[in-house]
Amino acid sequence: MISIALDGPAGAGKSTVAKGAAKALGFIYVDTGALYRTVGLKFLREGYDTKLNCDIDSVLKTIEVDIKFIDGAQHVFLNGEDVSEEIRTPEASMMASAVSAKPPVRAFLLEMQRKLARENNVLMDGRDIGTVVLPDATLKFFVTASVEERATRRYKELKEKGMDVSYDDIYKDIETRDYNDSQRDIAPLKPAEDSIMFDTTGNTLQESIDKLITIIKERLN
Ligand code: C5P
Repeated sequence: MISIALDGPAGAGKSTVAKGAAKALGFIYVDTGALYRTVGLKFLREGYDTKLNCDIDSVLKTIEVDIKFIDGAQHVFLNGEDVSEEIRTPEASMMASAVSAKPPVRAFLLEMQRKLARENNVLMDGRDIGTVVLPDATLKFFVTASVEERATRRYKELKEKGMDVSYDDIYKDIETRDYNDSQRDIAPLKPAEDSIMFDTTGNTLQESIDKLITIIKERLN
């Protein structure tokens, strides 16, 4: 099986680029952020805030996360309920970042991600795919873009979905999440030593998709 790891900060265009490239290559696109969001949503629903003053393990025991591909699109399920839309709110984003810093949560989701890569050709999008989840991935990319560009993209995306959001809040959210994700002790966001740096600043998403496909095809040949 071929596995391609795409790591990088929030809003760098990873998911759109990975989705487009996966489709062109006939690979399954796995959005691992959605798994952390699903776990985070359960903690939100239980009424916890991002300080997570609770027994993480006992909450995890009440969670079953599933991932299914419907017409090529990934759907995530929390105890059987499709929560693919609900996990996209700013609250769920912050909670995903908070739960993802907890070792039991990372352990809880690890095997599921590895199994997907064992059984399918995957393009897997996350923060620690090249460093922790799939250290032997066939190819590894680290996708980046400036904070301004990432905030603008996320703002437009949420507005298009009809959400009432402010650019400044999104900018601050991205900065906070970058900080949390790169400073945490466990699986911090950093490029794997053997990853290819891929900067999408100034490119349209289609240009980034085309570039990524070109590099992947060159490297796989
Ligand atoms: O990619 P997305 O923005 O949906 O991820 C939500 C949060 O989940 C991130 O801010 C990050 O804290 C966490 N995450 C992670 N490891 C991954 C994917 C996401 O820690 N592989």
